[in-house]
Amino acid sequence: MSTRTLPLRGAANPSSLRDGTNPGSFANAPNLGGALTFSSPDTPGMPQPSDKTAWDFLPPGWRREGDRAIAPAGFVPVTQLEHARLGNITPEMKRVAEREPHLSAEQVRTEVAAGRMIIPANTQHLQHALEPMCIGRASKTKINANMGASPVSSSTDEEVEKLKWAERWGADTVMDLSTGGNLDECRQAIIQNSRVPIGTVPIYSMIIGRKIEDLSVEVILESLRQQAKQGVDYFTIHAGVLREHLPFVQRRLIGIVSRGGSLLAKWMLVHGKQNPMYAHFDEICDIMREYDVSFSLGDGLRPGGLADASDEAQLSELSTLGELTEKAWRKGVQVMIEGPGHVPFDQIEYNMKLERQLCHGAPFYVLGPLVTDVFPGYDHITSCIGATAAAYHGASMLCYVTPKEHVGLPKKDDVKQGCIAYKIAAHAADVALGIPGSRDWDDSLTKARAALNWEKHFELAFDGDTARAFHDEDLDVDTDFCAMCGHDWCSVRISKEIVEFASGKADGFTRDKIAQSAALTPEQREILEKRGVLSPEEIHRLASKTRKAVGAEGSKGSCHSDYVEPQTAQQIQEQRLVQLRTKPEVSAAE
Ligand code: SF4
Repeated sequence: MSTRTLPLRGAANPSSLRDGTNPGSFANAPNLGGALTFSSPDTPGMPQPSDKTAWDFLPPGWRREGDRAIAPAGFVPVTQLEHARLGNITPEMKRVAEREPHLSAEQVRTEVAAGRMIIPANTQHLQHALEPMCIGRASKTKINANMGASPVSSSTDEEVEKLKWAERWGADTVMDLSTGGNLDECRQAIIQNSRVPIGTVPIYSMIIGRKIEDLSVEVILESLRQQAKQGVDYFTIHAGVLREHLPFVQRRLIGIVSRGGSLLAKWMLVHGKQNPMYAHFDEICDIMREYDVSFSLGDGLRPGGLADASDEAQLSELSTLGELTEKAWRKGVQVMIEGPGHVPFDQIEYNMKLERQLCHGAPFYVLGPLVTDVFPGYDHITSCIGATAAAYHGASMLCYVTPKEHVGLPKKDDVKQGCIAYKIAAHAADVALGIPGSRDWDDSLTKARAALNWEKHFELAFDGDTARAFHDEDLDVDTDFCAMCGHDWCSVRISKEIVEFASGKADGFTRDKIAQSAALTPEQREILEKRGVLSPEEIHRLASKTRKAVGAEGSKGSCHSDYVEPQTAQQIQEQRLVQLRTKPEVSAAE
């Protein structure tokens, strides 16, 4: 017997509100209201959290009294940050608390006031169908899906359809990154149709019909004002790319891969001036405050390959983003920070914890990161691995990557694949961090799986249709095993028998030898042997013969609990399918 003690670090049972089924996670003990809320234990040498929060960067004339701030007389709050600082619990904070059952509305307010959480909710968008949500490490990890027409593909209708599709597959926010077609019309349609917050990279629309070198401050501010008025909930603003950072880029393998970053770098080189987004940051803040547009401070110098990760260009920009965070907070504007990109797995924790320090805990919104560069066509997987680590180590929102990354414009199925990969990453991190209740879903599905309850199994699955199709591809009847192992090798079924034996239900249980199931017809055996070789049509043709073995009239076996009592079901299975001996021999003498 092992006497090993698990390295349990969290509270005794921090992971479930409902069933009380979760053991504590190995993450740090939950510390709501502190810098280490749902955080991973630090590997030695990691940057420590900042000892500052948004409370240290109040607007001029404000003062703090306990957990409230006092604003100058006559001040009218607009943004969620301003309301939170003043102690107001807004309807949006209440709605967020309903959607995050482990948080109270007061805790949401506290996190927003500290700058560790944002509620991206443009006051204009709230007049449409927006469902308020939050982004911050005290809440569940969120995912973003990108879409948008390009000059060579897609239309407004297609993008709205993609928006609905992304919402269907769990996108918590959507970014409209259109660079072609009618940008204004597409953006307006997306805002009017979306229940989730919409983000944009406004510089894209600023250069439609003009060269980047012709971009003026007036055009920048006017475009921002127009998009803010339309109802965009967050803007990616690449204000952290400075002239001083550009020489660092020369040492890179792939230079600047951010569209916004490369455009602004060109503008700076042509004009010999500082980045206008940086130089006019205060004016930008004023426009954004007016409609409560949140900042997504862009990572214009993010690495585009593993070799460029964590280099001077990237980290210098991150440091500037910290400085801009302080400025935005002083203006009452909500802030999250964008992050890399392409990062080797071992550097991810460092990147997350450096952001937490330099940007004082402002939510980190990361793209991937991809942990290898050599699998184009599969970058939803390479990045999902990095995204899981990023979320565990501190990222609050994960920007999805689709299989089309680097090679084409995502179509509907790519959007679905990207969303699912990122829902996996986000949920895996939430379970690992011990966010209350997050593992209850897993436990429910495990119970259905253990009971070989296929209907429940598919109902609980994130993509039940696909799970059911895979199941039915090989074995289109409801029975006590699936085609992966087959009847005789189904450990779950055998475990059920063991439990029955151990619980006394099969008193005197003995097992002779494993016998071939009657259900494993020659055709069924052929299916199992040729899995992946036979066409779906052939599989269905062959698999349907299994129906005969179990007397299935419809899609379910005659032993299914919909048709017969448990005892009869057992008899049918014993007679027709279950050749494994689970009952004691009855001697001839008895
Ligand atoms: S056959 Fe194998 S994969 Fe299928 S339910 Fe049984 S143990 Fe699980």
